[in-house]
Amino acid sequence: MVRVGMASSWGSFLQGEQQLEELARQAVDRALAEGVLLRTTKEQSSSDVVSYAPFTLFPSPVPSALLEQAYAVQMDFNQLVDAVSQNAAFLEKTLSSTIKRDTFTARLFDIYKQVLKEGIAQTVFLGLNRSDYMFQRNADGSPALKQIEINTISASFGGLASRTPAVHRHVLNVLNKTKDAARILSNNPSQGLALGIAKAWELYGSDRALVLLVAQEKERNVFDQRAIENELLARNIHVIRRRFEDVAEKGSLDQDRKLFLDGQEIAVVYFRDGYMPSQYNQQNWEARLLMERSCAVKCPDIATQLAGTKKVQQELSRVGVLEMLLPDQPEAVARLRATFAGQYSLDLGEEGDQALAEALAAPSRFVLKPQREGGGNNLYGEEMVQALRQLKDSEERASYILMEKIEPEPFGNCLLRPGCPVRVVPCISELGIFGVYVRQGKTLVMNKHVGHLLRTKANEHADGGVVAGVAVLDNPFPV
Ligand code: ADP
Ligand code: MG
Repeated sequence: MVRVGMASSWGSFLQGEQQLEELARQAVDRALAEGVLLRTTKEQSSSDVVSYAPFTLFPSPVPSALLEQAYAVQMDFNQLVDAVSQNAAFLEKTLSSTIKRDTFTARLFDIYKQVLKEGIAQTVFLGLNRSDYMFQRNADGSPALKQIEINTISASFGGLASRTPAVHRHVLNVLNKTKDAARILSNNPSQGLALGIAKAWELYGSDRALVLLVAQEKERNVFDQRAIENELLARNIHVIRRRFEDVAEKGSLDQDRKLFLDGQEIAVVYFRDGYMPSQYNQQNWEARLLMERSCAVKCPDIATQLAGTKKVQQELSRVGVLEMLLPDQPEAVARLRATFAGQYSLDLGEEGDQALAEALAAPSRFVLKPQREGGGNNLYGEEMVQALRQLKDSEERASYILMEKIEPEPFGNCLLRPGCPVRVVPCISELGIFGVYVRQGKTLVMNKHVGHLLRTKANEHADGGVVAGVAVLDNPFPV
């Protein structure tokens, strides 16, 4: 019986270590057969040698009601992101203190201003996002859905997430838990994401135009991206993968600001790169500006990328802001607000001083977040305290936000990673819902949710994603 000081885990059905290890071997082989793949850290730009993407041996319990709630609020989040991206006054006001100190956000904002000044050539807008949640344990023990963040650029794992249900069904079938196996939800986010791209491509309206997938050469998560490419090709839409550097060297605009690369017209630019400072050099910034100035559909356009910053997320939780952005939609506003955790501005002034003092008084209740994506940037506990003491009265404070720390109930699961021992440890999960919307001019022509992603990590790790080696792929087991 394997118990980890919490609700009993799947491990309690196992006879012992040996069965656990045999089950893990079967699961890994099935994962490889299903295409749950990552390139290795050693061979990041070739697929000659690949391995399995880390995943849990068992699916993790997720309350059905919270899963439904997360799905139900996704269209509201799509609309909200879209509204923020169209509200220049709100973006300007919200990011004004942050861009004074955060050079990355400032650089994105510069491009945004340049595009606004010249006039936006793009008429079709495509959002592919993923809203992430954790399950806060309330005082009475019940769980509540709380948003961690929304990713408006390069939201990943829609491809691999469609391949993991078969692996978990396999594991449960081996254990003769066929009824439980049947309860694992099917999932196909990459198909839905591709349908969004296909719709944007169609509305762009040129049969010969291509989809440009901007990616790094060293990309471990290439199979996840290929899943979307494959869906598009099946619809006769051709995708070219290029780096920012290629766009810088060979990209151009014609007099109508149509984007061309290698002499071919680009209808949709899908970014799977360009969300971290390290991904840009001067040349890449110029390539980004070129693409933003074009009439190609950018996913996301620069405004939508800014709409996904932590600072915007924090300001959205301020009283009255949702009502301003989604007027006459009180039900959507209520659904959105119900998922918000406490978030606090650290801008200089009384409000920021008070938030800072509260975090210093009870560090375990807060997370300190800079304007970064990709995992591993947040500060917790003693590190957070040190940083807050250093930031104290400086303007730099405004480039961070404070967030209430979500404390889910841990569950016993086994994280399978190449070369790591197989053992059951206390874990916590993060649920993501993929959203797709397409807008033509002022009209929203598509708004939907297209699937989910569950990622799980050992409870001892505060931060970090799948590629960073902290979280692993999982499936919700609805309870
Ligand atoms: P990133 O853009 O780097 O992914 P996130 O806001 O998603 O930033 O934070 C990264 C990770 O940190 C999350 O996946 C989650 O594990 C953890 N985390 C973030 N915010 C919170 C929070 N409020 N409470 C608990 N954990 C959090
Ligand atoms: Mg995240």
